[in-house]
Amino acid sequence: MNASSLIAGKAAAGGGDFVVVRSPHDGAEAGRVAAASRQDVEAAVAAARAFRDTPNRHERGKILDLTRSALEAQREDFARLITSESGLALRETRYEVGRTLEVLRCAAMEALRDDGQIFSADISAQGKARKIFTTREPLRCAAAITPFNHPLNQVAHKVAPAIAAGTPLVLKPSEKTPLTAFKFAELLYAAGLPGPMLSVLVGPTGEVAEPLVCHPAVDLVAFTGSVAVGKKIASVAGYKKLVLELGGNDPLIVLHDADLDLAVTLAAEGSYRNSGQRCTAVKRILVEEAIAADFTSRLVERTREYRCGDPLDENTRVGTVIDEASALQLEAVLREAVAGGAKILIGGGRRGAFVEPTVIVDVPRDCRMVVCESFGPLAPILKVRDLDDALEVANSTAYGLSSGVVTTNLQSAIKAIKALRCGTVNVNEIPGFRTENSPFGGIKDSGLGVKEGVIEAIKAYSYVKTFSLPW
Ligand code: NAP
Repeated sequence: MNASSLIAGKAAAGGGDFVVVRSPHDGAEAGRVAAASRQDVEAAVAAARAFRDTPNRHERGKILDLTRSALEAQREDFARLITSESGLALRETRYEVGRTLEVLRCAAMEALRDDGQIFSADISAQGKARKIFTTREPLRCAAAITPFNHPLNQVAHKVAPAIAAGTPLVLKPSEKTPLTAFKFAELLYAAGLPGPMLSVLVGPTGEVAEPLVCHPAVDLVAFTGSVAVGKKIASVAGYKKLVLELGGNDPLIVLHDADLDLAVTLAAEGSYRNSGQRCTAVKRILVEEAIAADFTSRLVERTREYRCGDPLDENTRVGTVIDEASALQLEAVLREAVAGGAKILIGGGRRGAFVEPTVIVDVPRDCRMVVCESFGPLAPILKVRDLDDALEVANSTAYGLSSGVVTTNLQSAIKAIKALRCGTVNVNEIPGFRTENSPFGGIKDSGLGVKEGVIEAIKAYSYVKTFSLPW
């Protein structure tokens, strides 16, 4: 670890409290990190703001490249660590490490790219013989707060663009899955990242996250997590930049002319991957009446392939959700839907933090499973009359993150792209489809419309300076 970096705070030097992380699968200790305090937040922010020796573009690109090589060499270790602290199946965590390699590759490329613009000032009758230029400058100190569901990739999507921009960052990963973030930070320091450019702190919310959000010397808070916490941050953060990537309740619309095999694949992958714990997971499957019976029976068959069990078993496709409390909540949401007239066709069982992949039909449009975000492997099917009805249901919730439309009709696809009130519309793909550098983010309760993805995030982690010269 770089001598001037702050990892978790003073307790690391001896004594103090620890955050103990347990596997949601069997309760075994996955690891522990020292708990930080308010003083550690002050020290990390002060170190970031005092830092002047920003590595140049070449050096920043090299740090990101070297980190990618180091992660590549340890990809299996990282996948197993994520699995041990999150309960996600190994197949998912290997995939997550692969995505993170891409984040690092994109950020290394962007670190080298010149980002300035030039405007000639002699374009009007009132113009002058001058040129106006823009250049991007790093922030003095940014804060990032990340959720549990992608313990590595969510962290990389904050850290890598900040490094590419040259902005020092104080990171507060989820207390449920901090181990991966700490191990990732070690790779960055070993690759040459100066300590003050990244501090990683976990601890009680009132000691770490809240002081960080409200800190007047923090220029930006980049938060990924729930709507409730995101809105709380927006209400207390004060005068600073905010990037809020919040919850989702994404629809997959399946029209009568859809390729049904494709639709079933997208519904299953969208609903069950990552134990259904993706902000862009399919949370509502809106199927046209004419094909609903056929689609449903095929989805039930496909669901049998999603074996739920020990996350380290190579044959497991769905591990646990993050903890038993979340599993119990999903069970309650299911029960409510059934009480409202819905029927479970497959799944529905819960054991500890395991929730079986579940297909449920006749789900009332106003039940909690449809209106709110349920973060687990549930596949509620709602019949819709036609595209207009589907669009109305799709737009009926407070969320607006992403969406998918399965159709072979271009006119229907274009109509959906125009009508859906959300950040992304993917035609014949899951709502979660993206590349690591494409703009990503939601509107309405899912976010303020400020996008992430490596390129957009670099913009957030920097200020544009405009200057002009006689020319
Ligand atoms: P969460 O409960 O909102 O927690 C997210 C982070 O916020 C954690 O690090 C948490 O710390 C911290 N936090 C809690 N209270 C805080 C406060 N008062 N001030 C500042 N920070 C605070 O979310 P989660 O349960 O970890 O993650 C699941 C949610 O994230 C879902 O809603 C999902 O849709 C959303 N998500 C959104 C995106 C997106 O890009 N739009 C991507 C992934 C996930 P502790 O862990 O210490 O409580």
